[in-house]
Amino acid sequence: MNEFDLIDKYFRNCGAPRADVPLGIGDDAALLACPPGEHLVAAVDTLVEGIHFPAGSPPESIGHRALAVNLSDMAAMGALPAWALLALTLPSIEETWVQKFTKGFGELARRHNVSLVGGDTTKGPLTVSVQIMGFIPIGQALLRSGGKPGDLLFISGTLGDAAAGLNIQDSEGEKNYLKKRFQFPEPRIELGQRLRPFASACIDVSDGLLGDAGKLAAASACGVEIDWETLPVSRQLLAFAGEERARVLALTGGDDYELCFAVRPENLEALERQLPARQWGYTRTGQLRAQHGAVVKRAGNVMDFSHSGYDHFGP
Ligand code: ADP
Ligand code: MG
Repeated sequence: MNEFDLIDKYFRNCGAPRADVPLGIGDDAALLACPPGEHLVAAVDTLVEGIHFPAGSPPESIGHRALAVNLSDMAAMGALPAWALLALTLPSIEETWVQKFTKGFGELARRHNVSLVGGDTTKGPLTVSVQIMGFIPIGQALLRSGGKPGDLLFISGTLGDAAAGLNIQDSEGEKNYLKKRFQFPEPRIELGQRLRPFASACIDVSDGLLGDAGKLAAASACGVEIDWETLPVSRQLLAFAGEERARVLALTGGDDYELCFAVRPENLEALERQLPARQWGYTRTGQLRAQHGAVVKRAGNVMDFSHSGYDHFGP
């Protein structure tokens, strides 16, 4: 099977068919119809074997994650995803691997109505690069930079699961749950769009909350205070790691792809009324403040994460 058969058999019908793709896979480039009155939102993310996922990971998971990490960037902007391009570098053409990879990629793409409109296939060390494009009504994008001191900080879902699951081989009980949280993250596309009227700033948590909330705060020209006690952790992570380690993983572990967003206090009531936390699964866990930097508060005291005491939970 050569590169062209592969494209025809596995990539041509991998994503969702869309009316705004007059020309998809097959020509030198795709033609795409942008809706008037909206901004095109574009992002690209690359996963390299051995760096962003363990060597020998299931191909379904690699396909899913390559798209999920990009969809998560759309979610963080409040955007509606539409089109994807896939640059795939493979050591060799193994049909069953490609079939499973496109199954993982395609299932997630079709679930979010994303069309695969083109890409590139090359030979080399396993590397998957996905470019995603979506839309947002002009002026409605959720930026990192819209926060102000006093804004309340929220997190969707739970944190730390993926970091704990990264090296788990087990497929039983809570270990399987954690492993799946790394292998098949669920981008918060719908929540991101619904947050447009309520969030003053938003970022997706890919590199650990402490770092990513710090990025949001820095872009907003302020600092952030995170509450240790209210950090959202799953019962599976608590059972696996114990409370202390679970919360450290929640702060410093990456790959969760949850949304971290800020809300002005005066918008809190509207947020809770229109997007009830019970239904949408988000937790308040801190606030933005005037003093720069990211700190964690535990029982009223600032924890110091620069001390080596917390390093042994790192990679
Ligand atoms: P060219 O040499 O003109 O760039 P290619 O042979 O690389 O064309 O690709 C042929 C067609 O297949 C193009 O439309 C391209 O977008 C698409 N394509 C190639 N690789 C992939 C891939 N991995 N996923 C999706 N589409 C792909
Ligand atoms: Mg090409």
